[in-house]
This record gives sequence, C-alpha cells and structure tokens, in this order.
Amino acid sequence: MHTHPGDPRRAAHRRRLARSLAAILGVDPVWVTAGDDRHRGYGGWPGYLLAVTEPEGTTWRFIATPAAADVFLLLGDCPGCGATEVPIVAVAELADLGRHLDPRADTTVPAEFGWDPRHRPGCRNHHPGS
Ligand SMILES: [Zn+2]
Repeated sequence: MHTHPGDPRRAAHRRRLARSLAAILGVDPVWVTAGDDRHRGYGGWPGYLLAVTEPEGTTWRFIATPAAADVFLLLGDCPGCGATEVPIVAVAELADLGRHLDPRADTTVPAEFGWDPRHRPGCRNHHPGS
C-alpha cells in the first residue's frame, strides 16, 4: 500500500473530515485528530482514522467512509469475536451516537459492516466480500 503522508491533498482532506466530525458531534474541533487508518485501504490508499478525545480523557475512534464525507463509522469491540476497533455504528448526526449509547440499544453489528478485515476467522459478523 502506498503511503504519502506529506500529500497536501490528503492533509486538506484530513482537516475537512476533522471539522465535519466535530460539527456532527458538536464538539470543539481541537478534540478531533485525523490520520491514516493502518487497517483499511481503498484503491491502494489508506483510509482515514479520526480520534475524538474528550477533555476528561475518553477517546472515540471513527473511520471515514469512502462513499460519504459526512458519515463516520464508530469503531468498537465486536460482540461476535472480540476484535477491537471494528465499525459498529454509522454516525451521520449526534442522535445516531446517542441511540448507540442507550443501554437498551441493539448491539448487533450491522451486516453492511461485515467487510471489515479486523474480525477474527469464523466471526458471525464477518462477511468478507459482501
Ligand atoms: Zn467480529
């Protein structure tokens, strides 16, 4: 996989994504850092990984979706295989995150995120190629 950390186009896109995510979550943009996603690539380019760190230390990690600049996938633990940092919920607005945090929420990993390469072999939530 090619990495071009100095590519100014990618740097500008990282800033755009960070601003977009901060706006969705209603947080201070300084809480949001954007970098390359070491685990996922698209067409030979690394994806984008965003971390939102609250002042008291809680960190949320998201990946950008190649298809939509204003939808982010929250990363979390897979209930099927225990893999960490797999996409578990799509967040397009703060309410999406709020629904996920509700203790009564359905914790099923949506089948459309089953492509993620971090799932362990045999995981019921892993659907490579779908
Ligand atoms: Zn899994």
